[in-house]
Amino acid sequence: MSPTDLALTDAVVDERWRHRPTTQGARSPAGLVQWAGVTLVAGVTAGLGAVGLHAMLAAGDLGRSLSLARGEMAGPALFCVVAVIVVCERLWPAEARPLLARGHLVDAGYLALFALAVVPPLTMVQTGVAIEVRRHASFLVLSRFAFIPRLAVEGIVLVGVDAMNWLAHRANHRFVTLWRLHALHHSQEEMGVFTTFRTHPLVHSVYLVSLFPALVLSATGGVPAVAVIVYGCLVTLPHANLRWTFGPLGKVFVSPAYHRIHHARTYPGDGEAVNFGFVLACWDRLARRAVFPVGPALPTGLDGRPVPIEQESAPRQLARTVFDQLAQPFRRATALEA
Ligand SMILES: [Zn+2]
Ligand SMILES: [Zn+2]
Repeated sequence: MSPTDLALTDAVVDERWRHRPTTQGARSPAGLVQWAGVTLVAGVTAGLGAVGLHAMLAAGDLGRSLSLARGEMAGPALFCVVAVIVVCERLWPAEARPLLARGHLVDAGYLALFALAVVPPLTMVQTGVAIEVRRHASFLVLSRFAFIPRLAVEGIVLVGVDAMNWLAHRANHRFVTLWRLHALHHSQEEMGVFTTFRTHPLVHSVYLVSLFPALVLSATGGVPAVAVIVYGCLVTLPHANLRWTFGPLGKVFVSPAYHRIHHARTYPGDGEAVNFGFVLACWDRLARRAVFPVGPALPTGLDGRPVPIEQESAPRQLARTVFDQLAQPFRRATALEA
């Protein structure tokens, strides 16, 4: 095995490699390891989903649980917020482009896919995680702290969720196998509010760690649905095609201009990825990976277009392009791992 193979099989992404031009992926041992990793993630996810589905069927509340989850993750509040942001994007765009730009159309398709086809199985998987944690790692679930006010518990859980999302996002950039799933999100060259939902469905498996704060403190109190909905809306705003920096508040909360730097084709400074935060910028500041916006909006996307993208396909081929995007992580050889 060559030194190059060894460097790749340790599964750590070199950020310079991340921006390598497209090449035809060879069937290298490293490619096989990454393919096996994606297949393993898919297998574990399916297993957890089966556990969750079985439990919901046994409890007789499958329909109710899925309906509640859809309301929290893809309900009317989210669509209203998205609609308002679309209007703002037309009024104050960071990058002027047609409303029906190909990137917008495809990413709107990803929103529909999320609401209709991802939320139900994701709910089953989340239920499966909760069951398996209580079954095999019950020591993680702390006993009740009666002295902590309910509001404080809710705040701690939400901050914990944001910290876990930051860690999972960092891992998506750190490990080649996970980057195979996350690269689709970064491939958008016409970033807008719909890009929030431009994710491979299996990426949500990585973010399952965000369930842990609520599980750990479940005996003391939960987070109300309205807080989950508000958090979901706050996560959506940073992808907007807006110049908004939030002024002084932009040092605390993730703004569209701040998150755009995370999607930049070329990172400023040392060339490594920055600005992993979802809602709070403090995690990036603690890790010294925060770069605050100054100057014009940077172009987004991936150098060399290693992910099939709609901007280089014919308008009639958009559905085929989306299929290729979703299938790419399962291919033995891809331009992402050559
Ligand atoms: Zn990222
Ligand atoms: Zn993003």
